[in-house]
Amino acid sequence: MLSGVEIQGTTMKKIEHIGIAVKNIESANKVYKSLLGYDHYKSEEVESEGVKTSFFTCGESKIELLEATKENSPIAKFIEKRGEGIHHIAFAVDDIYLEINRLKKEGFVVLNETPKKGADNKLVVFLHPKSTHGVLVELCQEINNNENNL
Ligand code: ZN
Repeated sequence: MLSGVEIQGTTMKKIEHIGIAVKNIESANKVYKSLLGYDHYKSEEVESEGVKTSFFTCGESKIELLEATKENSPIAKFIEKRGEGIHHIAFAVDDIYLEINRLKKEGFVVLNETPKKGADNKLVVFLHPKSTHGVLVELCQEINNNENNL
């Protein structure tokens, strides 16, 4: 809201979720259900990103399984290059715009400077892995979290 105003000490709040690229989300759902001991709470397709997602809670964090729905989706390309596995780590932030400004000043490469609507009712941006030692980092801010965000 106060875009342009520099606030010291904006930080990541917690690991919101870990994104895992999978070839087949139905079979991955079964594996993660066995692993965690409970079922996923949500499936969602994000058409603009060409992915199907499935979310499991795990304490304060979540596991997000991602399957490509298009050949040219980032998940399809990731699996082609590196196989299945951890695709990104997502950090929860209170104000994604402030955080983008802060991280740009720190020299991180922001992939999409305008946050986009991701899965699970979030605004998201990604940082290029080359600026984070090989890890694709997602920042996410809950949309309409009036209760938590004054
Ligand atoms: Zn994610």
